[in-house]
Formats: sequence, structure tokens, C-alpha cells
Amino acid sequence: MKTLREYIKEAEENGVAIGHFNISNLEGLHGIYNAAKKLNLPIIIGVSEGEEKFVGLNEVAALVRTLRERDNYPIFLNADHHASFESVKSCIDVGFDAVIIDQAKFSFDENIKVTKECVDYARKVTKETGRDVLVEAEIGYIGSGSDMKDTIPEGAGILTKVEDAVRFVQETGIDLLAPSVGSIHGLIKSGKPHIDAELVKKIRETTGVPLVLHGGSGLRDEDFTNAIKAGVSIVHINSEIRLAWKEAVKKFIIENPNEINPTKILKGAVEAIEQIVESRLKLFNAIK
Ligand SMILES: [Zn+2]
Repeated sequence: MKTLREYIKEAEENGVAIGHFNISNLEGLHGIYNAAKKLNLPIIIGVSEGEEKFVGLNEVAALVRTLRERDNYPIFLNADHHASFESVKSCIDVGFDAVIIDQAKFSFDENIKVTKECVDYARKVTKETGRDVLVEAEIGYIGSGSDMKDTIPEGAGILTKVEDAVRFVQETGIDLLAPSVGSIHGLIKSGKPHIDAELVKKIRETTGVPLVLHGGSGLRDEDFTNAIKAGVSIVHINSEIRLAWKEAVKKFIIENPNEINPTKILKGAVEAIEQIVESRLKLFNAIK
């Protein structure tokens, strides 16, 4: 099987992007995996620190590994927005394929220092084990939390400067970069954020590393396709999945107040997540 790095390269060559979807539970994992298999596309499962704590660090690693080995399928696991070297290290140690060290809200130099530490550790593990662990970092604050927001949070959404991106990549040696190009984490109720595709293109060309788009939930279709054409190789979706899960469970409970069997209550949530993921994957991969 190809490595995640190879799948990212292939996606870029084909002008498409790999979908990255977060899970908090088995409904999420099954819904996402069903959609990926249906379309026969590689897939990245993400867990934030909170999601990872809820599912369990070893548990989530075992779940994804089990599917990959059983079906010989390109399903990968990413530590989404981890806040310290220690939490990144614990994910690398249990077998995650990729990690995101998120220091974007700290100073630029502090961000470089901690990111470099994570890259050095990933390279050490690669040298010792042959596992290719990818490290992603962020510059430019795009807000935090996959939740419903009334407005864009204060201080978020300042676009990344091209020269900062170049210096950051050179000094840290990261594999993937998440710049601030217009999207915001969460679902914004007042208006939709807009992606600066020209900036995406410039950052991709000058840094030489594939780019990752965060805060994808709620963006217009053309914002995704323009960003992918301009150099985004991975797109993150989380809030839309959470909303689909909640709406499906709520609807079922209201319609079936006496049902207590979780396999019945949660079945609709798996299907709702599968639908969202399928439509997003089709969009990211130009499948009609
Ligand atoms: Zn993110």
C-alpha cells in the first residue's frame, strides 16, 4: 500500500484533495469509512485532543489500524490540532500516520521552536522504524473549536503572509502547512468565509509543501474547488459531521420516545454522516 505522503502527492498531481474527517465515536468512523469505500478513495480520520481523549488514544489507533489491515485499505489517522510536543509524541508513539502541532496562537518564534521539536521527533521515529510520520503545523490564527459561531472570532482570519510561510517551512522542515487563507474553524452563522485562492497558489509555490485547508465546514463549493486547484491537497471537515450526528439522533428520539436500543437510535447518525462525507468527497475529487 502507498504511504499517506504518496497519496497526497498523487492527489496534487490529479488536481484533487484527500478528505480529512474527525470522529468522536464509532458512528463517525463507520459513516466516514462507508463513504470512502463506496467511492474507493483514500481517507484521513482525525481526532482533536478532546476527541482523542473521549475515544481513547490506543483505542482510536487500534480501530483505524484494524480497518486498514483487514481490508488492505488506505485509511490513515491524524492527530488534529495537538497543543504540545508531549501530546504529539504520544500519538506518534501509538502509531498515528500524521500529527498537527498547533501553536498558531503563540508567537511566530515559539511556533517554530515547538514545531521543529515535533519534526525532529518524527524524523527520529522514521529513522528507527521506517514509518513515515507526517508533521503539519499552522501559521495564522483561524479560530478554534468545531462548533456553531455567531460571528468570526476576534483576532481570527488574518491572512498568512507569503514570506512568513516560506521562513516557517524552511526553519521547521514540516511536511504539510495549514496557512490562514480565509476559512474559519466552526460553522459561522453570519455569512460565509471566503477563500483567497491566489494566496493559496503563492504559498504553495513558494514553500514547496502541500497545503491543508482547515475550517472547511460551511464553505461554498467553488471556494473548495478553487482552493484545491490552487494547491490545497487535504481538506478538513468536522462541524458538519457533528451537526449531522446531532440532528439525526435528535430526530430519532423525538419520533421514537420509547426506543432505548442504541443500535436503533444511532443508526440514522451513521447514515447522515455517510451522506455528508460522500458529498464532500465527491466535491473534493471532482466526481459527479
Ligand atoms: Zn483545523
